[in-house]
Amino acid sequence: MSILKVARMGHPVLRLPARPLAATDLKQAATQKLIDDMMDTMHEYHGVGLAAPQVHESLRIFVAAIQPDTEEPLPPDAEPMVFVNPVITPVGSEMSEDWEGCLSIPDMRGRVPRPRTIKVTALDRSGGRIEFTSHDFPARVIQHETDHLDGVLFLDRMRSFSTLSFLDEYQRYWTKSGDD
Ligand SMILES: [Zn+2]
Repeated sequence: MSILKVARMGHPVLRLPARPLAATDLKQAATQKLIDDMMDTMHEYHGVGLAAPQVHESLRIFVAAIQPDTEEPLPPDAEPMVFVNPVITPVGSEMSEDWEGCLSIPDMRGRVPRPRTIKVTALDRSGGRIEFTSHDFPARVIQHETDHLDGVLFLDRMRSFSTLSFLDEYQRYWTKSGDD
């Protein structure tokens, strides 16, 4: 397994709509290795999620260290979730706003409004069907990563840039504990 180079904002791959995968693509050893490498890369850079376009592969895949039903972070020894060809549907009209960051926009944070509850359908890495409803933190991660597959970055979703902050200033002025 390998740690991959992460594309940073300005690289055109981050603005392309990514290609859906066929069942045969998932059986390819190269696709499975890409998924393993994406997990390694996400862990190396302490990300909560990573989408294939962020490692220069314009494919509709992302990995996320989340549990669908809880705000709790995934235990360190647990396998991250893999989403292939995800489709998101908002449930209800309630929005919530919270902080986001992105490995492709290093050391910045901003508040992003998103639907609070979503239904997601996708395939897992072996082609099995995933379908669940999620809210708050895991729903936010899923929406952020699915946006990457459509060439959308969290900055595009901000209502205004008044909260856009460098990480040091975010920790100094916007978090109570400063240890986020
Ligand atoms: Zn991102």
